[in-house]
Amino acid sequence: MTVSFLPPSPSALAKSSWEDIAPYFDDLAGRALDTESIEGWLREWSRLEELVTEAAARAMIAYTIDTSDSAKEADHLRFSTEILPRMEERSVELAKKLLQTGYTTPSLETTLARFRTQIEIFREENVPIFAELEEHSARYQRITGSMTALWDGVERPLPQLQPFLKSRDRGVRERAFRAASQPYLDQRGALAALFDKMYELRMRAGRNAGFADFRDYIFPAKFRFDYTPEDCERFHEAIEQTAAPAVERVLEARQQRLGLDRLRPWDLAVDPYREKPLHPFSDAGELVGKAQRVFDRVDPMLGREFQTMIDEGLLDLESRKGKAPGGYCETLHFHGRPFIFMNAVGLVDDVMTLLHEAGHAFHAFASHPLPLIWQRHPGSEAAELASMSMEFLASPHLTEPVGYFSRAEARSAWLEHLEDVLLSLVHIASVDAFQTWIYTSGQGGDAAARDQAWLRLRTRFERGVDWSGLERERVARWYRQLHIFMYPFYYIEYGIAQLGALQVWRNSLKDPATAVARYREALALGAVRKLPEIYQTAGARLTFDVETIGELVQLVEEHIERARAELP
Ligand SMILES: [Zn+2]
Repeated sequence: MTVSFLPPSPSALAKSSWEDIAPYFDDLAGRALDTESIEGWLREWSRLEELVTEAAARAMIAYTIDTSDSAKEADHLRFSTEILPRMEERSVELAKKLLQTGYTTPSLETTLARFRTQIEIFREENVPIFAELEEHSARYQRITGSMTALWDGVERPLPQLQPFLKSRDRGVRERAFRAASQPYLDQRGALAALFDKMYELRMRAGRNAGFADFRDYIFPAKFRFDYTPEDCERFHEAIEQTAAPAVERVLEARQQRLGLDRLRPWDLAVDPYREKPLHPFSDAGELVGKAQRVFDRVDPMLGREFQTMIDEGLLDLESRKGKAPGGYCETLHFHGRPFIFMNAVGLVDDVMTLLHEAGHAFHAFASHPLPLIWQRHPGSEAAELASMSMEFLASPHLTEPVGYFSRAEARSAWLEHLEDVLLSLVHIASVDAFQTWIYTSGQGGDAAARDQAWLRLRTRFERGVDWSGLERERVARWYRQLHIFMYPFYYIEYGIAQLGALQVWRNSLKDPATAVARYREALALGAVRKLPEIYQTAGARLTFDVETIGELVQLVEEHIERARAELP
C-alpha cells in the first residue's frame, strides 16, 4: 500500500471543491481492514487530513491577511463552510470503521476516546447548521475587520488606536477609548442580530445531539473529559474571592500613582511609571530579530525553530488595513510548520503576543514527529499552557543587548505583564460565566437580557473601575470578544492554562533549566496523553480550587509589589 494515490501537496488542493476531495474518502471507506492493512490505512487517512487541513489553513491565512480580496474570501469560505464540515462527516465515518475493528495501541487511546465521543454526538442534521455558523463567523470577521475610526483626520484600523490608549494625556486616552468603542456602538444592532442567529443555531445543534442545552453539548464536543461545568463554577467563585480583590488593590495603586480621584476605563493602559509608553521595536523586522535572540537564550532548539519560521516566511506580524483583527498561530500539518499572524503596532503587548504565539508554534514543532495528525493537537487547555508558559519562560531574557528593553524598561514591562495576568483571570471568569449564562439561562436569545447579564457579571468580577455614564461602552466589550461569536465556550481554557503557566513559572524561579526541559517534554506529548498527565509532565496540575488559585494570585501580587518597589 502506498500514499501515491493522494495529491502530492496541499497546493494541489488550493482550488479544490468538496467533489474533488470526496473520492479519496470514498477510497479509504471502501477498503477492507485487517491487521495487515490497518496501519497503512491509518497513515493514508492521516495524510489526507494533513493535506486538506493545510490547504484550508493556507486559504484562511491568505484571507485574514487581506480580508478585502473577494477571491481569497471565497477560497476561505469554500474550505471552512463546505470542505471541512464535509470532511468531518466523512472522518466520523472512517473513525467508526476504525473503532469497529477493535484496533488500539497505547499512543492511540486518547485519539480513540475522542473518536468515540465524536461519533456519539455527531448528527447528520447538524452538518448544515455548523456550515451556516461558519458563514456567520465570517460575517462577524468582516464587520469587525472593516471597522475604522477617524483619528486626527485619518481613517485608521482600530488596533492602531492602541498606542493612544497609553498616552500620558488623559484627554487623548479618553478620545481614543471613545473612538475605538464607537464602531461597536454603531454596529451593536447588527452584531446582536448576528448573535441571535448563532445562538439559535447552536441551541438547535445541542438539542439535535440529545442535550438539554448547548453547554451540555460543548463539554463532550470540546473533549473536556477532565473537568466539569461545576469545576468551572468553582473557578468563577475562586477568581471572585482571590483575583478580583487583588485586581482592585492593583488598580488602587495605579489610581494613586496617576494622582486621579477615580479610575476610568481609559486609565487602564497608560504606564504610570513613564512619560512615554515603551516602544520596544519600530518595525516587524526588529520585533522578529530580537525575538530570535530571546528564544535562543530560552533554549537553542527553540531558537532554531523560530529561525526556520523566519527563513520560510511563516510570520505576518504588522498591522495593516484589511487584515483581520487579533493574532493566531495556525499549524500547517502536511509540512509540519506553524504560521503566526498578528497586528503589531510597536507596543509591549505585541512582544507578549509574539511570545505567546511562538509558544503555540513550538508546540506544533514538538508534536509534529508524532505519526498521526490526531495525536498532535491536544485541547486548548494544553495548547494555551504551551503559549502562556512561554510568556513567563522568555521574560528573563527580554533585556538588552539580547531583547527589547533596558533594565528599567524591563521592570515596568514585567509589572505590566503581571498586572495583565490578574486582569485577564478576572476577564476570563466574566467571559466564561457570561457564556454559561447565555446557553443555560433560557434567555440567551434576548439581546437586551444578554447585555444586562454582561453588566451584572462585569460588576461581580471587575472592580476598581468607574464606568458610570459608560454602560453602553461597557456592554460593547463583549461584542469585541470574538470567541463569544466564533468559538463558543472557548475561554476558560485560558484560565486553566494561565494557572498552569503560573506553576511552570513558579518552578522556573527555582530551577529555570529544568522548567524549560519539562515544558518541552510536555509539548512533545502532543495529544497522546490525558490532560492531567500533560500538565504533570510540565510540572503543573489542573486547578479550580480557591486555595491553589489563591496561592498563585498571591505569588503574582508579591512579584508585582517587588517590581513596583524597584521602579522610580
Ligand atoms: Zn493562544
